[in-house]
Amino acid sequence: MAKKGRVFSGARPTGRQHLGNYLGAIKNYVALQDEYDCVYCIVDLHALTTMEEFEDLKQNSAEMALDWLAAGIRPDETIMFVQSHVPQVTELHTILSMFTPLGKLTDLPTFKEQVAQQPHNVNYGLVGYPVLMSADIALYKADTVPVGIDQASHIEFTREVVRTFNFRTKKQVLIEPQMKNTEYLKVLGTDGVQKMGKSLNNHIELAATPEETQAKVMTMVTDPQRQRRTDPGRPEVCNVFTLHKPFSPNEVAMIDTECRRAGIGCVDCKKILAKNINAHLEPFRAKRAELAQDPQHVWDVLHDGAKRAQTIAEVTLAEVKEAVGLPL
Ligand code: SF4
Repeated sequence: MAKKGRVFSGARPTGRQHLGNYLGAIKNYVALQDEYDCVYCIVDLHALTTMEEFEDLKQNSAEMALDWLAAGIRPDETIMFVQSHVPQVTELHTILSMFTPLGKLTDLPTFKEQVAQQPHNVNYGLVGYPVLMSADIALYKADTVPVGIDQASHIEFTREVVRTFNFRTKKQVLIEPQMKNTEYLKVLGTDGVQKMGKSLNNHIELAATPEETQAKVMTMVTDPQRQRRTDPGRPEVCNVFTLHKPFSPNEVAMIDTECRRAGIGCVDCKKILAKNINAHLEPFRAKRAELAQDPQHVWDVLHDGAKRAQTIAEVTLAEVKEAVGLPL
C-alpha cells in the first residue's frame, strides 16, 4: 500500500521505557507505521547536551531500542537507528546554524528553561539544540512530524529554518515539515502529581515483572479527598483512573460509576489496573525477553537502520552543499 509520506521522530536514549513513554510515544510510533514511511531516531547526540556522566549512554540506547522492537516497531520497513551513527546530521547542523540567528536561539523559552535547570552547564550544544533537531528532520526529508501540543513550537522553528534556507539559497532543497497533531496522553507518575519519569522514581517500567508492576500500582496516589473506603471518589482527578482508560476498556465505565458512589475501594480498583496492565504487556515482555537473549541483534538492527538512513542523508547533504556552493 502506498504510504502517505515520511514521518520522523526522535527520542532521547533514556534506557528502559516506562508506561509514560509507551502511552505518550511508542504506541503512536507503532501505529504510524501502517500509514507512513517512518524514521525513528535515538538521539544520543542531543542527550549529550544535558548529560554529566556518560557511562550509561550506549546501554540506554540499546535498552530503548529493545523496548521499541518488543512494542512492535518493524525494522524491516521502519528505519530505526542511533543519531550518532549518521554523521551527516552534524554536517547539516553546521550548515543550518549559519542560517539561524543566535538571538532567536537564546530567546527560545526552552533554552531559558534549560539554563535555569543547569546553570553550571550552559554549553554551546544546548544553544544549538533546535538547529540539530531541525537537521534531524530536514536530513531525512521528512514531511510529517508527530507532535503533542507542547512541542509545536519546536517544529515551527524547524519550518522557519527550512524556509530561510530555501529562500536564501533560492533552491527548494529542504522540505518544510508538517505537524501531525497527536493525542498524547500525559501520564502522571505514581505520585499523581508529576509527569511520569525515571529521575523522579515515580515510573512503572514496561519490562518490570508482574509483581513489581503490581507493587508499584498499589503505591499510586489516588483522589486525595477519598480518605475512607466509604467516601465517594472523583475519578477525574485520580491517576489510577487515567490509566484505566487505556488498559481497562471493559471496566472503565463500571469503575467510573462505582468510584463515585463508593461502590469500589481504591485497593480493589488498583488490583484491577495492575492485572490489566500485566495482561496488556504480557506479549511485549515475552518478546523483549526473547530479544534480550541476543544483545548483538539489537545493534545489528540499529546499524542496518543507520545504513539505510545514510543513503537518504547523503543525497540530501549533497544537495544542500551544492545549494550553498560547497564543492562536492
Ligand atoms: S476507586 Fe479507583 S478511580 Fe476511584 S479514587 Fe480509588 S483508585 Fe481512583
